[in-house]
Amino acid sequence: MALFEKVLIANRGEIALRVLRACRELGIRTVAVHSTADAEAKYVKLADESVCIGPPPSSQSYLNIPAIISAAEVTDAEAIHPGYGFLSENADFAERVEKSGFVFIGPAPETIRLMGDKVSAKEAMKAAGVPCVPGSDGALPEDPREIVRIARAVGYPVIIKAAGGGGGRGMRVVHTEAALINAVNMTRAEAQAAFGNPAVYLEKFLENPRHIEIQVLADQYRNAVWLSERDCSMQRRHQKIIEEAPAPGISRRLIARIGERCAEACRRIGYRGAGTFEFLYENGEFYFIEMNTRVQVEHPVTELVTGIDIVQAQIRIAAGEKLWFRQSDVQIRGHALECRICAEDPYKFTPSPGKITNWHAPGGPGVRVDSHVYTGYTVPPHYDSMIAKLLTYGESREQAIRRMRIALSETMVEGIKTNIPLHQELMLDERFIKGGTSIHYLEQKLAAREEVQHG
Ligand code: ADP
Repeated sequence: MALFEKVLIANRGEIALRVLRACRELGIRTVAVHSTADAEAKYVKLADESVCIGPPPSSQSYLNIPAIISAAEVTDAEAIHPGYGFLSENADFAERVEKSGFVFIGPAPETIRLMGDKVSAKEAMKAAGVPCVPGSDGALPEDPREIVRIARAVGYPVIIKAAGGGGGRGMRVVHTEAALINAVNMTRAEAQAAFGNPAVYLEKFLENPRHIEIQVLADQYRNAVWLSERDCSMQRRHQKIIEEAPAPGISRRLIARIGERCAEACRRIGYRGAGTFEFLYENGEFYFIEMNTRVQVEHPVTELVTGIDIVQAQIRIAAGEKLWFRQSDVQIRGHALECRICAEDPYKFTPSPGKITNWHAPGGPGVRVDSHVYTGYTVPPHYDSMIAKLLTYGESREQAIRRMRIALSETMVEGIKTNIPLHQELMLDERFIKGGTSIHYLEQKLAAREEVQHG
């Protein structure tokens, strides 16, 4: 018997196609929902049924909760997969899905809520023995003298962060006591305006960390495993552009220790489904920054090194299956890389939507392409600019990099601009090849390039 008869995919683009493929392999029928801008997308046609849920702006379509719930009702879907972005970390949506009698493929609404507030998430992680960035105990108090005292105890530089923040917004670095109170007040005002929650907290600002994250899977019965780490330090404006597994230069023993802490935290909070613990890593120490309670863009790098299908696992767990393997069954083999291919100018980073007049995807041993585009596809201007994820696998990191260079050179995208030239440059970059660059490396490299170009 199938796990579910029918799953509704509440997302678009490559992740909608990824979920669709997982469902088909599991013998589950699919419903694609789409805005009018995505009506012609091929994955919409591949789905067993499709429902238009509104006009192009995501506020009226992919974020339109009543439209999505009624699409599930009219098609008689049993479960809803939220993908990433859009409503995937919206506790109210998860609650509405469950109250309407559908299964939400993800954690319980209370868990999403707990982890969505960074102050409560950090408190829960501290209690579970996960190491956090040193900082204020919870939200900052009103009294400026108290705030000054807390910052002194932590030591400058510090970073002020909004409890409700996300997407790299609502953060401010403070280097001196003179700038502290003003920065707190400004972040509070911004947080109130952007997230409807003025609570802010304070952390030590780490100067040169790497971004290392741990993928977890947990079932409904408090069984949890961790599936290796990913290094996502290659970022621009807090947006990841290259991810890899395993993380170069960090000992397996250290990774296993933090991985086990994450799995234990899942058991304690009753986490269910796939999730990611994000850490900053500096001088041999891990510091928890946040948890993502959904599948992530970069999940395929972990699939390549572990052989575990994370999206299928999400569906099986949501259907009530008990975890079907143990931690000792999780073996890491080889090395995987992912380049996010975006429709944008590779030097100015301005979006480049429009019609793809010619698309050719690379192939060969150790190459995986997750993409919904094709020749004649029009990249709509309304959504995220990512058009494809190009992944390579190798027995060693060197082989994965070599394969990525070849795969990038085979990829053909005509009619729009993409960041492929930037990826090609990075695959030849000495520091990247060496491995272990910090989260600031790409921005520093881009700034140096600007100087050369403009003097
Ligand atoms: P968001 O939810 O907005 O993505 P995060 O808490 O994940 O916010 O932080 C996003 C990024 O901000 C991190 O990847 C890192 O680059 C930077 N950052 C956050 N906290 C710190 C810190 N304590 N020290 C240094 N950099 C930080």
